[in-house]
Amino acid sequence: MRNKRVLLASRPSGWVSEADFRLEEAPLPQPAQGEVLVRNLWLSLDPYMRGRMSDAKSYVKAVELGEVMVGQTAGEVLESRHPTLKAGDKVLTQLGWQLYGTTKEAMRVEERRAPLSCYLGVLGMPGMTAYFGLKEIGQPKAGETVVVTAASGAVGSVVGQLAKIWGARAVGIAGGGEKCAYVKDELGFDACIDYKAGNLAAALREACPKGVEVYFDNVGGEILDTVLARMNLFGRVVVCGTISDYNSSDPYRVRNWRAILVNRLRVQGMIVFDWKERYREALDALAGYFGQGRLKYRESVVEGLENAPRGLIALLKGENFGKQLVKLS
Ligand code: NDP
Repeated sequence: MRNKRVLLASRPSGWVSEADFRLEEAPLPQPAQGEVLVRNLWLSLDPYMRGRMSDAKSYVKAVELGEVMVGQTAGEVLESRHPTLKAGDKVLTQLGWQLYGTTKEAMRVEERRAPLSCYLGVLGMPGMTAYFGLKEIGQPKAGETVVVTAASGAVGSVVGQLAKIWGARAVGIAGGGEKCAYVKDELGFDACIDYKAGNLAAALREACPKGVEVYFDNVGGEILDTVLARMNLFGRVVVCGTISDYNSSDPYRVRNWRAILVNRLRVQGMIVFDWKERYREALDALAGYFGQGRLKYRESVVEGLENAPRGLIALLKGENFGKQLVKLS
């Protein structure tokens, strides 16, 4: 058995291309004392990976050229020299874009609660981002209106469903009629606006006649400016992502800053790992709703490690429809 892995070959400027990655074979790694050897079954593709490909200052360090691309994986323990894990256990790891890896840091997950891939999406890092961002920063009260962008995606879909579960109105913003129909009809949002159809401001006025108390922002850019203009007094803006800017060398400059003053808004950035001490709480809450059939999800699956670069590029272009994953076996 040989390992296969995808390395960062060059740093993109602007849009990522497949030439920025290199696929190589390597010997199968051997677990040291305290480690497990894991066969990765699923690789999560996430927008943050674009940031790790650049060496601009960020909240974590960049991937070095020639290093395995970072990423969370779900897999199976093949061999264990770890004190509590055994062969056959299903685990989450940070082994990145490769078929096999060794690590001390693996978290066992229960497949009887949910399919393994869900631990990378609705019950994983994106689900937790939605949970803590909405609960702790958005703090929606019953009857308030929550607007979320990238609403059909991994984070956005959970934000809107949690808003509904917690008694608020949920209004999504997504790209295209098919995504909007899914958000409204299948996920149960009160409304979903297709921002690509034009005239977002008018559509937002119609969908949120009493204004917006919570804006969960996954995209930044012009959409942020448009929603800022619709915020109510003492509203909260959860700054979770700015995906509209990730491939831009000339980031968007917010024009509607004054809305923050006039409406006394609280605007707060959030990074999910600031809540790592409370992941268990989020997992229990999300798995509870999931078990009751109240959290739906959708996946966009690319087959094979060699297609991971293509999957990441599609995700950054918004071509995914649901949590973007790579099926590795
Ligand atoms: P998604 O599954 O939502 O996929 C990304 C989506 O972004 C696309 O499907 C597309 O949806 C939308 N998008 C892409 N380009 C644009 C654009 N120019 N304008 C508007 N929308 C665009 O990804 P995730 O749920 O994994 O991530 C969503 C956001 O949350 C990202 O910004 C990500 O960086 C952030 N995030 C932040 C975390 C944190 O700790 N702060 C943790 C996890 C994610 P559409 O077709 O609807 O436009």
